[in-house]
Amino acid sequence: MKIIIASNNAGKIREYKQMLAGAGFDEVLSLKEAGITCEPEETGATFEENAAIKARALYEMTGCSALADDSGLMVDALGGEPGVYSARWLGLDDYALKNAEIIRRLEGKTGKERSARFVCAIHFIYEDGTEITAKGVCEGLIGTEPRGENGFGYDPIFMYGDKSFAEIPAEDKNAVSHRGNALRELERKLNA
Ligand code: IMP
Repeated sequence: MKIIIASNNAGKIREYKQMLAGAGFDEVLSLKEAGITCEPEETGATFEENAAIKARALYEMTGCSALADDSGLMVDALGGEPGVYSARWLGLDDYALKNAEIIRRLEGKTGKERSARFVCAIHFIYEDGTEITAKGVCEGLIGTEPRGENGFGYDPIFMYGDKSFAEIPAEDKNAVSHRGNALRELERKLNA
């Protein structure tokens, strides 16, 4: 069975290929591999809404099984920002700047006052139109300085225990991450 993933991110596609093979999808394609451009406006107020917008646009365009996800970082002391605006928070692409700004805004805060979570919502649509959703969360604290070279985005300032997400190997991150948890929930639902 064929499924198209609403992404061109190589890391994400690799994870989805591994996981969906077990659920009977032997042809898992990125947008690029499917020869498609599909970039609907992400107008949702939540990760779930944005994942649904992307999956439904792709399904309507192709009629094939479709999967989309939406993820980001929510910092409690910032009222949940960057949230659904994680990718373009403050109009910035540069994560060194975004990470420095989050740390600056949390100056003087300690312990649980620095709480944050990564969230990932997945929206899956079967060829017959049946929709399945899954969500994963990972709780942590915002560090006082960026640490580590692995990972991407906000990983250097997201402390999981005494290490940042950019200081641990990818397998260790996947075992506890928002995306890993959402994928495992999806896998359970697909195999149920
Ligand atoms: P998207 O779900 O690929 O659109 O990701 C949204 C944005 O959330 C990314 O551009 C990153 O800024 C942030 N983000 C999502 N997941 C992670 C993660 O695992 N580490 C660091 N940043 C992330």
